[in-house]
Amino acid sequence: MKCPYCGAADTRVVDSRPVDGGLAIRRRRECVQCGRRFTTYERPQLEPLMVKKRSGKREAFDPDKLLRGLLLACEKRPVDPERLKRFAYTFEDQVEGPEISSEEIGRRAMAFLKELDPVAYIRFASVYREFDSVERFIEEIKALEEGE
Ligand SMILES: [Zn+2]
Repeated sequence: MKCPYCGAADTRVVDSRPVDGGLAIRRRRECVQCGRRFTTYERPQLEPLMVKKRSGKREAFDPDKLLRGLLLACEKRPVDPERLKRFAYTFEDQVEGPEISSEEIGRRAMAFLKELDPVAYIRFASVYREFDSVERFIEEIKALEEGE
């Protein structure tokens, strides 16, 4: 498996143990090139994390889709893309239960970006929160400037 941090082709498993009462295997992997570690889970694909959209439709969670949104929000901003990758590819492991709403994904992504870069946060929020008016958009920017 490729390293999600530096993209090196080779990573080795440093620890492997059953979790969830033996229904999943948790592996700690270490990159041979950059030495960073990350976790993978091997689970039966009976219940992938499902995303409930505003329309009520459901679809399987796609970390690449989340990553694309984050990268777009951070375009030309001084943000390390590796941090965005880490957030997107570990997202599923932070979710409890088999389903999450698209609003909740947006909310968590916004909280993450708010810490990272205020401009990226506003860009992302303007899409995902669907500002209902220009006034609300401006309020949001002012709140950020005041350090809220
Ligand atoms: Zn690496």
